[in-house]
Amino acid sequence: MKRKIGVLALQGDFAEHIHAMERCGASAFEVRKSSDLDTADGLIIPGGESTAIAKLTGDNRDPVFDTIRARLNNGMPVYGTCMGSIFLAKEIEGSTQGRLAVMDIKVRRNAFGPQRNSFQTELPIKCLGEPAFPAIFIRAPIILSCGRNVEILATMPEGIVMARQDNMLVSAFHPEIADDHRVHYYFLKMLDNAVSTSKIRTAQSSTSQLLAG
Ligand code: GLN
Repeated sequence: MKRKIGVLALQGDFAEHIHAMERCGASAFEVRKSSDLDTADGLIIPGGESTAIAKLTGDNRDPVFDTIRARLNNGMPVYGTCMGSIFLAKEIEGSTQGRLAVMDIKVRRNAFGPQRNSFQTELPIKCLGEPAFPAIFIRAPIILSCGRNVEILATMPEGIVMARQDNMLVSAFHPEIADDHRVHYYFLKMLDNAVSTSKIRTAQSSTSQLLAG
């Protein structure tokens, strides 16, 4: 069965993520309001401008951000690229701008300089195997520090650039504009694990019901 991946489409390069996910064989669609998440097995928060999405968190017309938080707590996998990682971070250096503040990471925005300093590098990412990943950095953040529950997946001399905490994945770079979809496949694999975890939970609760009964 095809995986259904929502891509938050309020800000940033959501179209490229939709395209990359479709290339991986998933069905991908835009998420703009809470009800768009009803059919999503996973969610991508794309790159863009975090101060712009921050402003939308004050808009109470639709509870899309509350729904994302609730679904996250329920185990739905979420992948944040660049701006998406800032939006998931518990801490942003020198800023209290609006965000979901769910992942145990501290980020520094624009850590590699302005747009003209955008670059591509061959980044070794162990969980993706060989060869190194063609990682594109555009006004990218860096993860300065993270909690012990966060797994570091890739680093550069400047700091951490890819990490995972349970069902949350973040990268400072933009795999959706590279011609290499291994990060998107990795995210789809997280969905398989999420399904088996929820099956385990269901099995455990029916076992405890049997034991209790
Ligand atoms: N510099 C942007 C910010 O701080 C993020 C850039 C990106 O997502 N490519 O919000």
